[in-house]
Amino acid sequence: MKFYMPVRLYDEPECVARHGEDLASLGRKALIVTGHKSAERNGALGDVCMALEMYGTEYCIFSGVEENPSVETVRKAAMRGKEAGCDYVIGIGGGSPIDAAKAAASLLKQQDPETADLYDASIPTEAVPVAAVPTTCGTGSEVTGVSVLTLHENKTKKSIPHKIFPTLALVDGKYLANAKLSMIVNTSIDALAHMMESYLSIQADAYSRALVIEGLKIWASVKDVLDETRPIDELDYGTLMRASTFAGMAIAQTGTSIPHALSYIVTYDDQVRHGPACGLFLSRFVKEAYEEDSTPLMEAAGFADTDAFDAWLMNLLKDITVRKETLQRAYDAVKEDARMNGTRVHMDAESLARIVQL
Ligand code: NAP
Ligand code: FE
Repeated sequence: MKFYMPVRLYDEPECVARHGEDLASLGRKALIVTGHKSAERNGALGDVCMALEMYGTEYCIFSGVEENPSVETVRKAAMRGKEAGCDYVIGIGGGSPIDAAKAAASLLKQQDPETADLYDASIPTEAVPVAAVPTTCGTGSEVTGVSVLTLHENKTKKSIPHKIFPTLALVDGKYLANAKLSMIVNTSIDALAHMMESYLSIQADAYSRALVIEGLKIWASVKDVLDETRPIDELDYGTLMRASTFAGMAIAQTGTSIPHALSYIVTYDDQVRHGPACGLFLSRFVKEAYEEDSTPLMEAAGFADTDAFDAWLMNLLKDITVRKETLQRAYDAVKEDARMNGTRVHMDAESLARIVQL
């Protein structure tokens, strides 16, 4: 068994201010990478800037990272950082800006970020330090080495081959406080998919599975917020974030599986957001698992059985539509994917067709 988690993690209220010195001392000048507007609105950007100013660390801001960030956007961010002389990167936001921050940190080590090949696995993994401040409760990117980018030339999304873990993760549920419930639901489904896919991976071991079971219990304590049987309250924000961070730690050990592999094409072709795109396949994937594997998952997540889970999830996703030809393209791509052999779920052409519902 192996366990690798090199991220210094603080998960507590006001952790950006409390650990401002840690954040400010990662380098001399930070490249701050954000999405469009949310980092400013939810206060995370202000908290980060204040911490850096307090300790005299310079920064420049690259904002406007789009959902499912492209390689081109990452290049632009890295160019900005290079021109400004930044020696580390702070990603603030959902998985998109944090993943973009990791990839930009790798390009900042290259002579020419405009042309360097992010997908060249033969070059050594090198990156300037990264700090992450998550503001969604789904990807766990603050504790994974993964950076998923949109590759327009391949008409899909793909992780870069280099594992770039943040040095520091500052997790504070308060950044979720003004988010729409739909964003919280969408991203919580991603966290759920991470936990279930991780548990069913052939890479899973006692360490990663412990994170999944504990993470699912945390997730289950707020699931009635997601289906609106209870209104959200202030304490829930931290709980939602914590479930996502546990899930991130689990996939950092095992990677993701079939629902994620299928989701990339669904997101690319039909613009379905990441969490729902994974969720569409998740319950049918779990149904294909051996009972000895699915039972602990259902118990920890608070579902009577896989049918009850399927009904709950499909109700949450009832407004999502995907075209038949998109499902076919996803099926065709994943049939050849290495992840078909990376799961404890018996996968063949028939089980994949049942999961995709062709
Ligand atoms: P996201 O794409 O980062 O953001 C989605 C939307 O939520 C954006 O419009 C963003 O607005 C908004 N938003 C973010 N924080 C908010 C807040 N606190 N309040 C209100 N709105 C907020 O969403 P995500 O689901 O977190 O990330 C998805 C990406 O992560 C995908 O590319 C996926 O493939 C990747 N991913 C990575 C990993 C990993 O291990 N690295 C794992 C799973 C998924 P703004 O643009 O204004 O910020
Ligand atoms: Fe995900």
